[in-house]
Amino acid sequence: MTPGRTPARPASAPEPDPTADQATKDAMSNATTVSPAHSASTASTLITNIAALVTNDPSSGDGSPLGLVQDAAVVIEGDRVVWTGDQSKAPATDNRVDAEGRAVVPGFVDSHSHLVFAGDRTQEFNARMSGRPYGAGGIRTTVAATRAASDEELEANVTRYLREALRQGTTTFETKSGYGLTVEDEARALRIAAAHTDEVTYLGAHIVAPEFAEDPAGYVALVTGEMLDACAPHARWIDVFCEKGAFDGDQARAILTAGKAKGLHPRIHANQLSYGPGVQLAVELDAASADHCTHLTDADVDALAGSRTVATLLPGAEFSTRAEWPDARRLLDAGVTVALSTDCNPGSSFTSSVPFCVALAVRDMGMTPDEAVWSATAGGAAALRRDDVGRLTPGAYADLTLLDAPSHVHLAYRPGVPLVSGVWRRGERVV
Ligand SMILES: [Zn+2]
Repeated sequence: MTPGRTPARPASAPEPDPTADQATKDAMSNATTVSPAHSASTASTLITNIAALVTNDPSSGDGSPLGLVQDAAVVIEGDRVVWTGDQSKAPATDNRVDAEGRAVVPGFVDSHSHLVFAGDRTQEFNARMSGRPYGAGGIRTTVAATRAASDEELEANVTRYLREALRQGTTTFETKSGYGLTVEDEARALRIAAAHTDEVTYLGAHIVAPEFAEDPAGYVALVTGEMLDACAPHARWIDVFCEKGAFDGDQARAILTAGKAKGLHPRIHANQLSYGPGVQLAVELDAASADHCTHLTDADVDALAGSRTVATLLPGAEFSTRAEWPDARRLLDAGVTVALSTDCNPGSSFTSSVPFCVALAVRDMGMTPDEAVWSATAGGAAALRRDDVGRLTPGAYADLTLLDAPSHVHLAYRPGVPLVSGVWRRGERVV
Protein backbone atom coordinates (compact mmCIF):
# COMPACT_ATOMS: atom_id res chain seq x y z
CA MET A 1 0.00 0.00 0.00
CA THR A 2 1.31 3.43 -0.92
CA PRO A 3 0.86 6.38 1.42
CA GLY A 4 -1.98 8.50 0.07
CA ARG A 5 -0.99 11.91 1.34
CA THR A 6 2.09 13.75 2.47
CA PRO A 7 1.96 14.66 6.15
CA ALA A 8 1.04 18.29 6.72
CA ARG A 9 2.65 20.54 9.32
CA PRO A 10 0.63 22.80 11.59
CA ALA A 11 1.19 26.44 10.64
CA SER A 12 2.99 27.05 13.92
CA ALA A 13 5.41 24.13 13.66
CA PRO A 14 9.00 24.66 12.55
CA GLU A 15 10.64 23.22 9.47
CA PRO A 16 11.25 19.48 9.74
CA ASP A 17 14.68 18.28 10.72
CA PRO A 18 16.37 17.28 7.42
CA THR A 19 17.92 14.15 8.97
CA ALA A 20 14.60 12.93 10.33
CA ASP A 21 12.99 13.67 6.98
CA GLN A 22 15.54 11.55 5.15
CA ALA A 23 15.01 8.71 7.63
CA THR A 24 11.27 9.01 6.99
CA LYS A 25 11.84 8.77 3.25
CA ASP A 26 14.16 5.78 3.60
CA ALA A 27 11.74 3.86 5.79
CA MET A 28 8.81 4.72 3.55
CA SER A 29 10.60 3.56 0.43
CA ASN A 30 11.39 0.27 2.19
CA ALA A 31 7.77 -0.10 3.22
CA THR A 32 6.48 0.42 -0.29
CA THR A 33 8.96 -1.81 -2.11
CA VAL A 34 8.60 -4.90 0.12
CA SER A 35 5.47 -6.94 -0.51
CA PRO A 36 3.37 -7.41 2.65
CA ALA A 37 2.93 -11.05 1.69
CA HIS A 38 6.66 -11.66 2.09
CA SER A 39 7.34 -9.76 5.29
CA ALA A 40 5.44 -9.83 8.56
CA SER A 41 6.95 -6.47 9.46
CA THR A 42 5.10 -4.75 6.62
CA ALA A 43 1.75 -6.51 7.13
CA SER A 44 -1.02 -3.92 7.13
CA THR A 45 -3.32 -3.49 10.12
CA LEU A 46 -6.63 -1.63 10.21
CA ILE A 47 -7.70 -0.08 13.51
CA THR A 48 -11.36 0.70 13.04
CA ASN A 49 -14.48 1.71 14.96
CA ILE A 50 -12.62 4.69 16.47
CA ALA A 51 -15.21 7.13 17.88
CA ALA A 52 -12.80 10.08 17.74
CA LEU A 53 -9.41 10.14 16.06
CA VAL A 54 -6.97 12.98 16.75
CA THR A 55 -4.71 13.29 13.67
CA ASN A 56 -3.21 16.76 14.29
CA ASP A 57 -3.68 17.31 10.56
CA PRO A 58 -5.88 20.39 10.10
CA SER A 59 -6.71 19.27 6.55
CA SER A 60 -8.45 16.18 8.02
CA GLY A 61 -11.80 15.71 9.74
CA ASP A 62 -13.27 18.78 11.41
CA GLY A 63 -10.58 21.12 10.09
CA SER A 64 -9.45 22.13 13.58
CA PRO A 65 -5.75 21.96 14.57
CA LEU A 66 -6.52 18.50 15.98
CA GLY A 67 -7.91 17.30 12.64
CA LEU A 68 -10.52 15.36 14.57
CA VAL A 69 -12.17 12.53 12.58
CA GLN A 70 -15.35 10.88 13.95
CA ASP A 71 -16.11 7.20 13.23
CA ALA A 72 -12.59 6.84 11.96
CA ALA A 73 -10.03 4.23 11.06
CA VAL A 74 -6.24 4.13 10.79
CA VAL A 75 -4.15 1.80 8.64
CA ILE A 76 -0.65 0.88 9.79
CA GLU A 77 1.94 -0.75 7.55
CA GLY A 78 5.32 -1.63 9.00
CA ASP A 79 6.23 1.16 11.40
CA ARG A 80 4.21 3.85 9.61
CA VAL A 81 0.69 5.20 9.30
CA VAL A 82 -0.34 4.79 5.67
CA TRP A 83 -3.99 5.85 5.76
CA THR A 84 -6.45 7.67 8.05
CA GLY A 85 -10.05 8.67 7.47
CA ASP A 86 -13.71 7.72 7.61
CA GLN A 87 -13.95 4.05 8.60
CA SER A 88 -16.48 3.35 5.83
CA LYS A 89 -13.79 4.21 3.26
CA ALA A 90 -10.95 2.20 4.77
CA PRO A 91 -8.94 0.03 2.38
CA ALA A 92 -8.55 -3.74 2.75
CA THR A 93 -5.77 -4.87 5.10
CA ASP A 94 -4.12 -8.05 6.40
CA ASN A 95 -5.22 -7.58 10.03
CA ARG A 96 -8.04 -5.78 11.81
CA VAL A 97 -8.39 -4.34 15.33
CA ASP A 98 -11.77 -3.17 16.66
CA ALA A 99 -11.39 -0.05 18.84
CA GLU A 100 -14.97 -0.58 20.08
CA GLY A 101 -15.90 3.10 20.00
CA ARG A 102 -12.84 4.37 21.85
CA ALA A 103 -10.74 7.44 21.04
CA VAL A 104 -7.25 7.31 19.51
CA VAL A 105 -4.66 10.05 19.89
CA PRO A 106 -1.07 10.24 18.63
CA GLY A 107 1.39 8.76 21.14
CA PHE A 108 2.47 11.50 23.54
CA VAL A 109 5.77 13.26 22.80
CA ASP A 110 7.40 14.03 26.14
CA SER A 111 10.06 16.52 25.07
CA HIS A 112 11.53 17.20 28.53
CA SER A 113 12.57 14.61 31.13
CA HIS A 114 15.54 13.82 33.38
CA LEU A 115 15.51 10.03 33.66
CA VAL A 116 19.18 9.13 34.22
CA PHE A 117 19.45 9.38 37.98
CA ALA A 118 19.66 7.33 41.16
CA GLY A 119 18.01 7.76 44.54
CA ASP A 120 14.88 9.71 45.30
CA ARG A 121 14.00 12.87 47.23
CA THR A 122 10.94 11.84 49.21
CA GLN A 123 12.12 13.71 52.29
CA GLU A 124 12.73 16.93 50.39
CA PHE A 125 9.24 16.73 48.85
CA ASN A 126 7.73 15.99 52.21
CA ALA A 127 9.52 18.96 53.79
CA ARG A 128 8.54 21.27 50.94
CA MET A 129 4.89 20.27 51.26
CA SER A 130 5.29 21.30 54.88
CA GLY A 131 6.16 24.83 53.79
CA ARG A 132 9.86 25.04 52.85
CA PRO A 133 10.58 26.77 49.48
CA TYR A 134 12.28 24.96 46.59
CA GLY A 135 15.78 26.00 45.43
CA ALA A 136 18.09 24.58 42.77
CA GLY A 137 20.42 23.19 45.48
CA GLY A 138 18.35 20.02 45.86
CA ILE A 139 19.86 18.79 42.60
CA ARG A 140 23.13 18.12 44.51
CA THR A 141 21.44 15.31 46.44
CA THR A 142 20.66 13.50 43.19
CA VAL A 143 24.14 14.22 41.82
CA ALA A 144 25.72 12.42 44.79
CA ALA A 145 23.41 9.40 44.44
CA THR A 146 23.87 9.24 40.67
CA ARG A 147 27.65 9.36 40.83
CA ALA A 148 27.61 6.53 43.38
CA ALA A 149 25.33 4.30 41.27
CA SER A 150 26.53 1.56 38.94
CA ASP A 151 25.78 1.64 35.21
CA GLU A 152 23.34 -1.24 35.81
CA GLU A 153 21.42 0.69 38.45
CA LEU A 154 21.09 3.74 36.19
CA GLU A 155 20.08 1.58 33.24
CA ALA A 156 17.45 -0.21 35.37
CA ASN A 157 16.03 3.13 36.50
CA VAL A 158 15.74 4.50 32.96
CA THR A 159 14.06 1.29 31.81
CA ARG A 160 11.62 1.36 34.71
CA TYR A 161 10.51 4.96 34.17
CA LEU A 162 10.26 4.48 30.42
CA ARG A 163 7.99 1.50 30.89
CA GLU A 164 5.91 3.57 33.27
CA ALA A 165 5.65 6.38 30.66
CA LEU A 166 4.82 3.95 27.86
CA ARG A 167 1.94 2.48 29.87
CA GLN A 168 0.60 6.05 30.05
CA GLY A 169 0.81 6.58 26.32
CA THR A 170 4.22 8.20 25.79
CA THR A 171 5.88 6.89 22.62
CA THR A 172 8.61 9.53 22.09
CA PHE A 173 10.68 11.07 24.83
CA GLU A 174 13.67 13.30 25.29
CA THR A 175 15.97 12.83 28.26
CA LYS A 176 19.04 14.54 29.66
CA SER A 177 22.26 14.18 31.60
CA GLY A 178 22.81 16.67 34.41
CA TYR A 179 23.22 14.55 37.54
CA GLY A 180 26.85 13.55 36.88
CA LEU A 181 28.63 16.91 36.47
CA THR A 182 32.00 15.27 35.80
CA VAL A 183 33.33 14.42 32.34
CA GLU A 184 32.93 10.68 32.94
CA ASP A 185 29.57 10.81 34.71
CA GLU A 186 27.97 13.11 32.14
CA ALA A 187 29.20 11.00 29.21
CA ARG A 188 28.00 7.84 30.99
CA ALA A 189 24.50 9.28 31.48
CA LEU A 190 24.27 10.21 27.80
CA ARG A 191 25.48 6.78 26.66
CA ILE A 192 22.78 5.14 28.79
CA ALA A 193 20.10 7.54 27.52
CA ALA A 194 21.15 7.09 23.87
CA ALA A 195 20.45 3.35 24.11
CA HIS A 196 16.75 4.27 24.57
CA THR A 197 16.12 7.40 22.48
CA ASP A 198 17.54 9.61 19.73
CA GLU A 199 16.45 12.69 21.68
CA VAL A 200 19.36 12.96 24.09
CA THR A 201 20.37 16.26 25.70
CA TYR A 202 23.71 17.19 27.23
CA LEU A 203 22.95 19.15 30.42
CA GLY A 204 26.38 19.37 32.03
CA ALA A 205 25.25 22.92 32.91
CA HIS A 206 22.44 21.82 35.24
CA ILE A 207 24.16 23.38 38.27
CA VAL A 208 27.79 24.21 38.98
CA ALA A 209 29.43 20.97 40.13
CA PRO A 210 30.10 20.98 43.90
CA GLU A 211 33.86 20.75 43.27
CA PHE A 212 33.70 24.10 41.45
CA ALA A 213 31.56 25.96 44.00
CA GLU A 214 34.30 28.59 44.38
CA ASP A 215 35.19 28.61 40.67
CA PRO A 216 32.08 28.74 38.49
CA ALA A 217 34.10 30.10 35.55
CA GLY A 218 36.29 27.01 35.78
CA TYR A 219 33.20 24.82 35.60
CA VAL A 220 31.88 26.67 32.54
CA ALA A 221 35.31 26.08 30.93
CA LEU A 222 34.99 22.35 31.66
CA VAL A 223 31.39 22.18 30.34
CA THR A 224 32.39 23.96 27.11
CA GLY A 225 35.69 22.08 26.76
CA GLU A 226 36.64 18.58 27.81
CA MET A 227 33.14 17.62 28.99
CA LEU A 228 31.55 18.83 25.74
CA ASP A 229 34.08 16.84 23.70
CA ALA A 230 33.24 13.67 25.65
CA CYS A 231 29.47 14.23 25.52
CA ALA A 232 28.76 15.62 22.04
CA PRO A 233 29.03 12.22 20.27
CA HIS A 234 26.17 10.83 22.41
CA ALA A 235 23.76 13.80 22.23
CA ARG A 236 21.58 15.72 19.77
CA TRP A 237 20.84 18.68 22.04
CA ILE A 238 22.60 20.95 24.53
CA ASP A 239 20.74 22.54 27.43
CA VAL A 240 21.52 24.90 30.30
CA PHE A 241 19.64 25.80 33.48
CA CYS A 242 19.62 29.59 33.12
CA GLU A 243 18.53 30.72 36.59
CA LYS A 244 19.75 32.49 39.71
CA GLY A 245 21.81 29.91 41.60
CA ALA A 246 22.63 28.04 38.38
CA PHE A 247 23.97 29.85 35.26
CA ASP A 248 23.50 33.51 34.27
CA GLY A 249 22.77 34.75 30.74
CA ASP A 250 26.40 35.24 29.71
CA GLN A 251 27.41 31.79 30.98
CA ALA A 252 24.39 30.22 29.30
CA ARG A 253 25.22 31.93 25.99
CA ALA A 254 28.82 30.70 26.16
CA ILE A 255 27.71 27.13 26.90
CA LEU A 256 25.06 26.92 24.17
CA THR A 257 27.31 28.61 21.61
CA ALA A 258 30.08 26.10 22.32
CA GLY A 259 27.56 23.27 21.91
CA LYS A 260 26.33 24.67 18.60
CA ALA A 261 29.92 24.75 17.34
CA LYS A 262 30.07 21.01 18.08
CA GLY A 263 26.87 20.33 16.14
CA LEU A 264 24.43 20.22 19.09
CA HIS A 265 21.14 22.13 18.91
CA PRO A 266 20.22 24.36 21.87
CA ARG A 267 17.27 24.18 24.24
CA ILE A 268 17.09 26.06 27.56
CA HIS A 269 15.64 25.75 31.07
CA ALA A 270 14.39 29.34 31.05
CA ASN A 271 12.46 31.66 33.37
CA GLN A 272 11.32 28.90 35.73
CA LEU A 273 11.90 30.34 39.20
CA SER A 274 12.29 34.02 38.32
CA TYR A 275 12.37 36.54 35.47
CA GLY A 276 15.63 36.41 33.56
CA PRO A 277 17.43 36.33 30.22
CA GLY A 278 16.73 32.68 29.33
CA VAL A 279 13.80 33.13 26.96
CA GLN A 280 15.46 35.99 25.04
CA LEU A 281 18.61 33.91 24.75
CA ALA A 282 16.60 30.94 23.46
CA VAL A 283 15.17 33.11 20.69
CA GLU A 284 18.53 34.74 19.94
CA LEU A 285 20.15 31.30 19.47
CA ASP A 286 17.15 29.75 17.64
CA ALA A 287 16.75 27.18 20.42
CA ALA A 288 14.18 24.52 19.58
CA SER A 289 12.52 25.14 22.93
CA ALA A 290 12.49 27.41 25.97
CA ASP A 291 11.37 25.19 28.83
CA HIS A 292 9.30 26.23 31.89
CA CYS A 293 8.50 29.87 30.87
CA THR A 294 6.77 30.51 34.18
CA HIS A 295 7.98 34.11 34.68
CA LEU A 296 7.67 36.04 31.41
CA THR A 297 7.67 39.74 30.58
CA ASP A 298 5.62 41.02 27.64
CA ALA A 299 8.91 41.32 25.72
CA ASP A 300 9.63 37.63 26.40
CA VAL A 301 6.21 36.64 25.06
CA ASP A 302 6.67 38.86 21.99
CA ALA A 303 10.10 37.36 21.33
CA LEU A 304 8.70 33.82 21.46
CA ALA A 305 5.77 34.76 19.22
CA GLY A 306 8.12 36.13 16.61
CA SER A 307 10.38 33.06 16.61
CA ARG A 308 10.23 29.35 15.90
CA THR A 309 11.25 28.56 19.49
CA VAL A 310 8.56 26.50 21.24
CA ALA A 311 7.52 27.34 24.82
CA THR A 312 7.50 24.02 26.69
CA LEU A 313 5.37 24.16 29.81
CA LEU A 314 5.99 21.66 32.61
CA PRO A 315 3.09 21.84 35.06
CA GLY A 316 4.34 18.84 37.05
CA ALA A 317 7.05 21.14 38.40
CA GLU A 318 4.63 23.82 39.58
CA PHE A 319 2.37 21.13 41.04
CA SER A 320 5.23 19.50 42.97
CA THR A 321 6.68 22.77 44.23
CA ARG A 322 3.41 24.62 44.82
CA ALA A 323 4.67 27.36 42.54
CA GLU A 324 2.79 29.79 40.36
CA TRP A 325 1.45 28.18 37.16
CA PRO A 326 2.82 29.24 33.77
CA ASP A 327 0.19 31.21 31.83
CA ALA A 328 -0.46 29.07 28.79
CA ARG A 329 -3.43 31.22 27.72
CA ARG A 330 -1.23 34.31 27.44
CA LEU A 331 1.27 32.45 25.26
CA LEU A 332 -1.36 30.87 23.02
CA ASP A 333 -3.21 34.17 22.56
CA ALA A 334 0.08 35.75 21.48
CA GLY A 335 0.58 33.03 18.85
CA VAL A 336 3.39 31.12 20.59
CA THR A 337 3.68 27.38 19.88
CA VAL A 338 3.24 25.60 23.22
CA ALA A 339 4.37 22.10 24.20
CA LEU A 340 3.40 20.24 27.36
CA SER A 341 5.81 17.80 29.00
CA THR A 342 6.44 16.08 32.31
CA ASP A 343 9.93 17.30 33.35
CA CYS A 344 10.07 13.88 35.04
CA ASN A 345 12.87 14.11 37.63
CA PRO A 346 13.24 13.02 41.25
CA GLY A 347 13.33 16.54 42.72
CA SER A 348 10.77 18.94 41.33
CA SER A 349 8.40 16.82 39.20
CA PHE A 350 8.40 13.09 39.85
CA THR A 351 5.67 12.19 37.38
CA SER A 352 6.00 10.35 34.08
CA SER A 353 2.34 10.97 33.24
CA VAL A 354 1.54 13.22 30.29
CA PRO A 355 -2.22 12.77 30.89
CA PHE A 356 -1.71 14.23 34.38
CA CYS A 357 0.03 17.26 32.84
CA VAL A 358 -2.79 17.66 30.30
CA ALA A 359 -5.31 17.73 33.16
CA LEU A 360 -3.30 20.34 35.09
CA ALA A 361 -2.87 22.52 31.99
CA VAL A 362 -6.62 22.52 31.38
CA ARG A 363 -7.59 23.07 35.00
CA ASP A 364 -4.99 25.66 35.99
CA MET A 365 -3.20 27.12 32.96
CA GLY A 366 -6.07 28.26 30.77
CA MET A 367 -5.72 25.66 28.03
CA THR A 368 -8.71 24.06 26.37
CA PRO A 369 -8.68 20.25 26.28
CA ASP A 370 -8.03 20.40 22.51
CA GLU A 371 -5.06 22.73 22.99
CA ALA A 372 -3.57 20.62 25.77
CA VAL A 373 -3.81 17.41 23.74
CA TRP A 374 -2.24 19.15 20.72
CA SER A 375 0.58 20.51 22.90
CA ALA A 376 1.29 17.08 24.41
CA THR A 377 1.57 15.50 20.95
CA ALA A 378 2.27 17.83 18.00
CA GLY A 379 3.62 20.50 20.36
CA GLY A 380 6.16 18.10 21.85
CA ALA A 381 7.17 17.07 18.33
CA ALA A 382 7.67 20.74 17.38
CA ALA A 383 9.84 21.20 20.50
CA LEU A 384 12.03 18.39 19.15
CA ARG A 385 11.82 19.69 15.57
CA ARG A 386 10.24 16.44 14.45
CA ASP A 387 7.41 15.98 11.99
CA ASP A 388 7.38 12.17 11.96
CA VAL A 389 5.83 11.85 15.43
CA GLY A 390 3.02 13.65 17.29
CA ARG A 391 0.58 13.25 14.40
CA LEU A 392 -1.35 10.45 12.75
CA THR A 393 -0.97 11.18 9.07
CA PRO A 394 0.36 9.04 6.22
CA GLY A 395 4.13 8.81 6.48
CA ALA A 396 4.31 9.48 10.23
CA TYR A 397 5.43 6.78 12.64
CA ALA A 398 2.59 4.50 13.75
CA ASP A 399 2.71 5.69 17.37
CA LEU A 400 -0.88 5.57 18.69
CA THR A 401 -2.52 5.68 22.07
CA LEU A 402 -5.94 4.06 22.47
CA LEU A 403 -8.01 5.58 25.28
CA ASP A 404 -10.65 3.74 27.26
CA ALA A 405 -12.91 6.72 26.57
CA PRO A 406 -14.97 7.99 23.63
CA SER A 407 -13.08 11.29 23.36
CA HIS A 408 -9.63 12.80 23.91
CA VAL A 409 -11.35 15.36 26.18
CA HIS A 410 -11.57 12.63 28.84
CA LEU A 411 -7.81 13.06 29.40
CA ALA A 412 -8.69 16.25 31.28
CA TYR A 413 -12.27 15.39 32.22
CA ARG A 414 -11.25 12.19 34.09
CA PRO A 415 -8.00 13.22 35.81
CA GLY A 416 -6.01 10.53 37.57
CA VAL A 417 -7.87 7.69 35.86
CA PRO A 418 -5.72 5.21 33.90
CA LEU A 419 -7.44 5.73 30.54
CA VAL A 420 -4.69 4.36 28.30
CA SER A 421 -5.87 0.93 27.17
CA GLY A 422 -3.52 0.31 24.26
CA VAL A 423 -0.30 1.71 22.82
CA TRP A 424 1.30 1.08 19.42
CA ARG A 425 4.88 2.22 18.97
CA ARG A 426 6.51 2.07 15.54
CA GLY A 427 3.59 -0.08 14.40
CA GLU A 428 3.92 -2.69 17.15
CA ARG A 429 1.35 -3.02 19.90
CA VAL A 430 3.38 -2.61 23.11
CA VAL A 431 0.64 -2.10 25.73
ZN1 LIG B 1 14.07 20.06 33.52
